[in-house]
Amino acid sequence: MSKTVIHTHASTEAGILANAYLVETENGVIAVDGTLIRSEARALRAKIDALHKPLLAVLVTHAHPDHTAGITELVQSDSSIPVIALPSIDRVMRATEEAKHAQWAPIFQDEWIRQWTFPNRFVQNLEEVELDGIHFQVHDIGPGGDCDANSVWVMTSENSKAAFVGDLVFSGTHCYLADGSIRAWLLNIDNAEQYLDNVSEIYAGHGPAGGHELLAKQRDYLLTYCANVKELAQGNSQLSEEAKQELVTRMDRYLPNASLQFMISLSSDAVAAELALAGDFLSHSQK
Ligand SMILES: [Zn+2]
Repeated sequence: MSKTVIHTHASTEAGILANAYLVETENGVIAVDGTLIRSEARALRAKIDALHKPLLAVLVTHAHPDHTAGITELVQSDSSIPVIALPSIDRVMRATEEAKHAQWAPIFQDEWIRQWTFPNRFVQNLEEVELDGIHFQVHDIGPGGDCDANSVWVMTSENSKAAFVGDLVFSGTHCYLADGSIRAWLLNIDNAEQYLDNVSEIYAGHGPAGGHELLAKQRDYLLTYCANVKELAQGNSQLSEEAKQELVTRMDRYLPNASLQFMISLSSDAVAAELALAGDFLSHSQK
């Protein structure tokens, strides 16, 4: 088994701080995710070119555009490069593509990538892919929080055992919770603590990499956010403007100076709606 170097591409705020990773092996490069906007994806492609090794594959963690839109710039119409994902990720990408274009193209304008590249090779839960002697195993974690289709890739090489967890973890930033499913997200964290037990490094979808503590921190963030929304929503499925402001103040106090602050109020109604339906999961998830 050969050695690897993991290069992190951390997007700017304009690219929602989305991370993409390049796993450099002896004879090639494997990308994990592809960033959101055109300039970030081109910068990532330039990093691959600078390594003077071929792009062997793109592994996809989940279906959101801040991790998948830029794949088009990475593979540059070369359909022989495998873009590897769960079938569920492909389905969610296709089902949401039109709505995401409508929502974000006017905001990002020329930076928005209108032509998406979909996965062309599919894997099932726990399937292993070998690329230049490095093993990548996929864990299908299903829906949960950030996205309706998520996976975690565990990489085993000579010198490291690492996990690319996508948006299961936002490391040190505020989180996108606008798609609801917080309960499923919490369960996904509980499970990850088991199967990532022997993994030393965790590479997050946003924010810096770290160790196992990232999972516990993510759980604590979600529970704190939910507890505050629950109190401020008072059983309603939406927050008033005033309550949203108060939520922003509280979460800012909880995670001072953290980026992606706009996500605090963006997500509040989806979470209030979930809590109004079944808020009792909060007490069960507390470890
Ligand atoms: Zn993301």
